[in-house]
Amino acid sequence: MKMSKLFVQTLRDFPADAEAISHKFLLRAGYIKKLANGIYSYLPLMKRVLLKIEQISREELNKSGAQELLMPFVQPAELWQKSGRYNAYGKELLRLKDRHDVELCLAPTHEEVITSVADGILTSYRQLPINLYHFQLKFRDEIRPRFGLLRGREFIMKDGYSFHATKESLDIEYKNMWKTYERIFKRCGLETKAVQSDSGAIGGKVSHEFMVLTDTQSGEDNVFYCKECTYSANSNHAVSKLPVENTTTRFIKEEIVDTPNIRTIEELTKFLNVEENNILKSVLYIADSKPVMVMIRGDKEVEETKLLNAVFAREIRKATEDEAKEITGSEAGFLSYIGIEDKIKVVFDISSKGMKNFVAGANIPHKHIAGHNFEKEYDFVDVSLVKEGEKCPVCGKPLYVTKGIEVGNIFQLGTKYSEPMNACYTDENGQNRPFIMGCYGIGITRTAAAAVEKHHDDYGIIWPLAIAPYHCVIVPVNIQEQEQKTVALEIYEKLLNKGVEVVLDDRDDRAGVKFKDADLIGFPFRITVGKTIKDGLVEFKTRSNGEVITISPDEAIEKIVGAVRELNPTKSFCEV
Ligand code: ATP
Ligand code: MG
Repeated sequence: MKMSKLFVQTLRDFPADAEAISHKFLLRAGYIKKLANGIYSYLPLMKRVLLKIEQISREELNKSGAQELLMPFVQPAELWQKSGRYNAYGKELLRLKDRHDVELCLAPTHEEVITSVADGILTSYRQLPINLYHFQLKFRDEIRPRFGLLRGREFIMKDGYSFHATKESLDIEYKNMWKTYERIFKRCGLETKAVQSDSGAIGGKVSHEFMVLTDTQSGEDNVFYCKECTYSANSNHAVSKLPVENTTTRFIKEEIVDTPNIRTIEELTKFLNVEENNILKSVLYIADSKPVMVMIRGDKEVEETKLLNAVFAREIRKATEDEAKEITGSEAGFLSYIGIEDKIKVVFDISSKGMKNFVAGANIPHKHIAGHNFEKEYDFVDVSLVKEGEKCPVCGKPLYVTKGIEVGNIFQLGTKYSEPMNACYTDENGQNRPFIMGCYGIGITRTAAAAVEKHHDDYGIIWPLAIAPYHCVIVPVNIQEQEQKTVALEIYEKLLNKGVEVVLDDRDDRAGVKFKDADLIGFPFRITVGKTIKDGLVEFKTRSNGEVITISPDEAIEKIVGAVRELNPTKSFCEV
């Protein structure tokens, strides 16, 4: 590819509205162009990166026995009604109607479609297990699309689904996909950590997320992990060993105490001279338009995904002060479960289990109750956020927290879709049984962006060789100099013949401009043909470590060919 022909425009400055580093660089280096909020065109450089991530995924998935197909992006609402998700999915599901008034939706995921595809084709246990996958667009009307490709509304996903006759068979495939994902991300130049994750409103199922750990703001998930053992989990799933708190306050007898304008936990600790963990905090939520009060220990916070699952809701948000007043008759700061337990749903967080003689809101403005004890044994559930330093649930050592970008997800679905959709096979005894299913996703576009988050410097992107749009750029310092031009062209032809993906920067521009673009775009190798060509030498730069050496053109070619061969000795992909 000649740079003069490449469909790319690099920008001198970062676009103003981009926050995440990958978003900034992908826009500035001419990889993507925004069409609408959370919707991007993938320009030729980007398309090559995506093709490579797809191809790596394809090779590894095929090696693991999965088969590729392609399912539609536009789906009938009827199918989603059958699975029970049409209403449950919420506003992320974009719904539309065709000219015959038939309700449709844009695929946010493909469980329903794959289940209907398998139904009637996979009829016998003899055909199982089977694993089918595709690369397809998804549309999710995300409430907050941001960070460019990291959280788009339209994005590309590899999603795969497996069908089994037994749970044991699903377990085997789950491990198989786990290993496959490790290989895929490693080949893409990304280190990932598989962490336990939330498995949605159904609960009780196994799921893991593959996280790229990062300390930047673009890591939207918090990952808790133990350094002593292998425990690691997304904050929406993480648990810790909490010591049962026995309060030793001066309030050994229950009494209502005046707490004028003392509304926060901090104010209360000072005013009543108690510790945060002596206080039972009340947090009022609205879950699908119904109030839910969470009772949680004063030093803990609510984890909203856990709460959402605990109350089987689609959407939750904190109640406003006005709503709190209306629902409880009291005021924010003095709320409590006392007196309204039979009117609204109350969730007791596990952290409050075992609390004694504690302080809580009295549900009376400007008053709290002290020396209070639970009058019965509640069904305590875990809806709290783990805090760094709390003890690992497995080994008891302290937990640490870091940010993560979820690039993949594996999930044991069980019969969640096959049962309501009545998708069955016949077992050895001729009995009809719903398929036991697994599903496995990789965010292809998000993986590309995550790679930029991890691999860049002040000057631009530093692509891992395996997913770089091109392996190498050749820069003749002065294209007007005949010898430089001729040698650059010769190197270019030789590299092309050896299957290297190469760009020749044939623009009649200053060398400085070309070097800047080369760094920004992130070519892993740069061969500069300048004055030293008179001595038969070129400059060879490795983008990842900045190392520059002066060698002969043939040596430079050898180095690049060697590096490319190491990537994948059996296959060359993405022919120029
Ligand atoms: P998130 O929690 O980040 O919203 P998710 O868990 O809902 O993602 P899955 O349904 O597990 O996503 O989808 C599989 C993969 O698709 C994710 O692991 C992620 O890499 C990718 N993905 C999901 N949502 C988006 C998005 N809005 N933009 C880009 N990639 C996405
Ligand atoms: Mg996920």
